[in-house]
Amino acid sequence: NSPLADADPEVFNAIEAELTRQRTTLEMIASENFAPIAVMQAQGSVLTNKYAEGYPGRRYYGGCEHVDVIEDLAVERAKDLFRSTFANLQPHSGAQANAAVMFTLLEPGDTILGLDLSHGGHLTHGMRLNYSGRLYNAVAYHVRESDFQVDMDEVERLAQEHRPKLIVAGWSAYPLHLDFKEFRRIADSVGADLLVDMAHIAGLVAADLHPSPVPFADVVTSTTHKTLGGPRGGLILTDRADLAKRLNSAVFPGLQGGPLEHVIAAKAVALRLAGTEEFRDRQRRTLGGAQAVAERLSSDRVQSAGISVLTGGTQVHLVLVDLRHSELDGQQAEDRLHSIGITVNRNAVPFDPRPPMVSSGLRIGTPALAARGFGAGEFADVGDIIAMALSEPLSEDRAAALRGRVAALAARFPLYPEL
Ligand code: PLP
Repeated sequence: NSPLADADPEVFNAIEAELTRQRTTLEMIASENFAPIAVMQAQGSVLTNKYAEGYPGRRYYGGCEHVDVIEDLAVERAKDLFRSTFANLQPHSGAQANAAVMFTLLEPGDTILGLDLSHGGHLTHGMRLNYSGRLYNAVAYHVRESDFQVDMDEVERLAQEHRPKLIVAGWSAYPLHLDFKEFRRIADSVGADLLVDMAHIAGLVAADLHPSPVPFADVVTSTTHKTLGGPRGGLILTDRADLAKRLNSAVFPGLQGGPLEHVIAAKAVALRLAGTEEFRDRQRRTLGGAQAVAERLSSDRVQSAGISVLTGGTQVHLVLVDLRHSELDGQQAEDRLHSIGITVNRNAVPFDPRPPMVSSGLRIGTPALAARGFGAGEFADVGDIIAMALSEPLSEDRAAALRGRVAALAARFPLYPEL
């Protein structure tokens, strides 16, 4: 029972190196965040030892009296936070949560209608190689080429034409609010159920900075580790009493075995923290920060390098940078920012002429830096640094200067000082 450093120095050293990387660089991957220490303590606890197949009060194992308390807390907190009448906190991930919903609402071969992956949708919304595209007849809607907004006329037309059993609203890369009410109207007009996957925006929804999908959707799924800032995992919400039991049995025994009670405990902690003023302030800085970055990336100098911000701005925690008219492709832009200490991911933009592995876009998110304490001033600085790095060739001198500014910003906001 020796400590990790002795039991496994290779893993220990890699974790230490990762901590240093997280501390010394600026993390701007839109789906990432820094879980609070309390969340990581719960996740790293003795709960990892416990089998608890079933649900609180109805387990298939003895000794579940304490994990029952924890899972009940997680469920009640999710219901309170998102104002929903049912919650399941057992999905191991967002993908599992979506699979459980599809297992509940669909039979193999049924038609689903979701946002195209290359227009910002997620793999689990019907991508060809994913279970959702293999088990179901997946039809995709798109954004309009004129303004990059989801084309609700197309959603309605495809719904009328294909009569899907399930419409999926949600995204992994889209900078605007979706019109949940209109999705509801279209779903009702063809007798489809509506799933809203709020994985990316759950933290903003919890802080009332983004409209909630709960009143409009039959079922809402989410991850718990993106804007919500908890451990990696998923959750399911519904107000439909007739679906509660069916969703539970789709998760267990349908898809999963024993729940990860250590992760569920960490979800409970994150959901408690998400009800605090401190969390709401962090979400306000997340949103304001994305708007500040978008503004800095819309300057004349950036535009003259053929770089623009998709849709001209953002209503959420991320900015999509359009490099279709730039000499830099997505891969080069990602590498260039990496070389000065800023981590982002390249991302296909809609109507992208370059192949997906190269792509013509960047997805830049603010949740992790907001968790470190960044406010409007720092985000404007970061936006300037990104603008400078992308809009002109980077000589070694300029790269060194930008690297210095990044390192200074990181040092001003120490990450996990208690570790
Ligand atoms: N749904 C959406 C909209 C996502 O963006 C993601 C993650 O990228 C997921 C689901 C899947 O979550 P996970 O990676 O936990 O399976």
